[in-house]
Amino acid sequence: MICECCVIHQAHAVASMPSVPISVAFCLPCLAVGNYPLWALLANTACVGRLEDTAEDWQDMVRRSCAYQGKSLEWFSAEVGRIVSKMEREMYENNDTLALKQDNWGC
Ligand SMILES: [Zn+2]
Repeated sequence: MICECCVIHQAHAVASMPSVPISVAFCLPCLAVGNYPLWALLANTACVGRLEDTAEDWQDMVRRSCAYQGKSLEWFSAEVGRIVSKMEREMYENNDTLALKQDNWGC
């Protein structure tokens, strides 16, 4: 099994990720550094809205993981913004679909 955080090394353990109800496979270097999967950090940050609005511990996890994976915080924030925009667009599309269904049902 490959480490889900760096996606480079062989995984040595599966452990929970702080603040997120998931467990991921870690290699020893990622466990030692506190490197987490960027997809999980991005998704959970997008649920809050902006990195600046998250807890300091979460921001530390993001800073460590971005640094370890060669990503800038500017890149991370831009990705969060893109995900938030996509979620908002899909929410409105789903609302339109729901409104159309209600019209068809005579609601
Ligand atoms: Zn790793």
